[in-house]
Amino acid sequence: MRKLLSVVVSVYNEEAVLEQFYKEAGAVLESIGWDYELLFVNDGSRDGSFRILTELAGRDSHVKVVSFSRNFGHEAAMIAGLDHSRGDAIICMDADLQHPPRCIPLILEKFEQGFDVVNMVRTKNESAGWFKNLASSCFYKLINVLSDVKFENNASDFFAVSTRVAQVLRDSYREKVRFLRGYVQNVGFAKTTITYEAGVRAAGESKYSIRKLFQFSVNTIVCFSNLPLKLGIYAGGMAAFLGVVVMIYTLFTRGGAPSGYATIVILNCFMFAILFLIVGIIGEYMSILFAELKDRPIYIVAETRNLSGREESAADGDVN
Ligand code: UDP
Ligand code: MG
Repeated sequence: MRKLLSVVVSVYNEEAVLEQFYKEAGAVLESIGWDYELLFVNDGSRDGSFRILTELAGRDSHVKVVSFSRNFGHEAAMIAGLDHSRGDAIICMDADLQHPPRCIPLILEKFEQGFDVVNMVRTKNESAGWFKNLASSCFYKLINVLSDVKFENNASDFFAVSTRVAQVLRDSYREKVRFLRGYVQNVGFAKTTITYEAGVRAAGESKYSIRKLFQFSVNTIVCFSNLPLKLGIYAGGMAAFLGVVVMIYTLFTRGGAPSGYATIVILNCFMFAILFLIVGIIGEYMSILFAELKDRPIYIVAETRNLSGREESAADGDVN
């Protein structure tokens, strides 16, 4: 029996590229010698994306569609894709052709060699601009310093997992605030990387704003490191040391009337700044604890196409 490949594609307002993506990916998928399904996850698009996907699904039974009730974000879309796919290998990729479909045969080669996880690492990202590229490399440096878990530099949301890794992700990584590619890199199993060049977006514009990326980075650090929480201990130690030094200095300076108004003001500001920073950091952790406690669904499916029979099992996944 031929093996099945699932290709999960997250879609948010991508009407401009969907047809082109379908054509390019379809041509590659027809040539790989595996059965395949092309699973589009419509993440609450407000444009004509869902209409186009429905049309594709009507034309071609390889095309499956999961459509959310609203926008839940790229990560939620990938998780829904993993939940609904049945492949022996599952590839997650973007709809904008920045993740080239021509890499798919290379990925399958790795699976045939027995690998369970294939991370696609981009060598350059032409469309991101210098600021995004710099921010991205700083982010990976920082997270690698802060966390015990090691992250691949420039790992992208382009990755492939075997069915048993997908099962681990479905069962055990249902956090509300998360960093999916971090989990993919750290579930273990035999893994390998392939480098690729991220081209420019085929059409449309990036859906990630700088603000979204910043929030995403903060969440990831909080998810993967407890070190910021310990900042309070270090800051406390430092303040105590400083206090002792000032005390000794005051005791041993003879005849000196209390002086140094500026010193007091500066020290005060400095101490309060540290204090509030730490309160803020604790707040970040608390907001994530709160999100986990509320246990709201990661995504809500409104409609599907060509997926009859799979909804119930994935619905269980929502509330895990
Ligand atoms: N995307 C999504 N939900 C969102 C934002 C983006 O499903 O809320 C999808 C988008 O359609 C694309 C992929 O995630 O397929 C990557 O987004 P984008 O290309 O805008 O990000 P960039 O490549 O600029 O980092
Ligand atoms: Mg893109």
